[in-house]
Amino acid sequence: MSETIEKVKCLIIGSGPAGYTAAIYAARANMKPVLYQGTQPGGQLTTTNEVENFPGYPDGITGPAMMMELQKQAERFETDVRNGWITKVDFSGDVHKVWVNGEKEIHCDTIIISTGASAKYLGLESEQKYLKLGGGVSACAVCDGFFYRKQEVVIVGAGDSACEEAHYLSKLCTKVTMLVRRDEFRASKIMSERVKNTENIEILFNTETEEVIGDGQVVTGVKVLNNQTKASHLIPATGFFVAIGHKPNTDIFKGFLDLDETGYIINAKPGTSKTNIAGVFVSGDAADHVYRQAITAAGTGCMAALDAERYLAAKDSTFEVSTSNYN
Ligand code: NDP
Repeated sequence: MSETIEKVKCLIIGSGPAGYTAAIYAARANMKPVLYQGTQPGGQLTTTNEVENFPGYPDGITGPAMMMELQKQAERFETDVRNGWITKVDFSGDVHKVWVNGEKEIHCDTIIISTGASAKYLGLESEQKYLKLGGGVSACAVCDGFFYRKQEVVIVGAGDSACEEAHYLSKLCTKVTMLVRRDEFRASKIMSERVKNTENIEILFNTETEEVIGDGQVVTGVKVLNNQTKASHLIPATGFFVAIGHKPNTDIFKGFLDLDETGYIINAKPGTSKTNIAGVFVSGDAADHVYRQAITAAGTGCMAALDAERYLAAKDSTFEVSTSNYN
């Protein structure tokens, strides 16, 4: 049988900049937040190398170091940070219910969703095969690039992530081949220029992945197609990196929350963190397909905590809105 149902005032789902910022504000407002970290504690930034654009770090900081600092700051105000994965929710009644790891049931007065987004893959059978085998397919150069030092790798994508990862790999690998499906980058000028100016990065425009080739255990090359000339050729490589964007982690909320066609949560009232369910708030990339930055995620995490605090105060006259968040 399941253990006793736990009751919490404020449950935060996710441990990226949105989740931890919500936790800092909620904890300082006496909401005793419980934060579940999910399967990737620290979120997407733990796969980022150098963060140069978060205000307050004039010399830059690595993604993992920044997330550790945010966690420390949330815990300083007694946020209960837990390992665990929310596998199911039920927002149909007055009490918002969630289940952790398919077992533990929690009833929440307020919920702040900060589940972020996950890396997308091409979906090729050969890509998935070597991904599952752990044999040379990765969506995180910072996590896995080290394994390919002094080797040749291929990376697909043309956004800022792909450029950042290609540049990171170029420092470890002898050669990086970048596959760009159109005749131009999507990335910002500064990032694409950096890639273009790196000697051991070769950029193949109008080029798509046909198949990831391997020996049954590990990747040995990538078969690519020029979509203009229709010519295909094989690029020898031991690593295949995918950097083609992300999908919001919102599947468990389907049927309860309003989502757009790509799965991003729709704000019920623009300019707030409110969803269509009272007491359920959203922050970070789960609702943001436009800005998707650590600083905007942190900002919306703050908004969600303030909205949750006001919601609680309106519902429960014994819960006072703290003044600490407003000075
Ligand atoms: P983006 O959505 O910006 O880019 C995805 C890229 O992948 C596009 O170039 C797209 O091609 C390509 N792509 C998508 N599907 C395929 C496919 N099936 N085959 C081949 N290529 C494909 O995602 P990012 O993750 O790069 O960036 C997300 C956001 O985060 C952006 O706003 C970005 O600016 C930001 N960011 C900022 C960073 C920084 O400032 N340090 C670092 C990383 C990200 P196409 O262009 O043809 O559509």
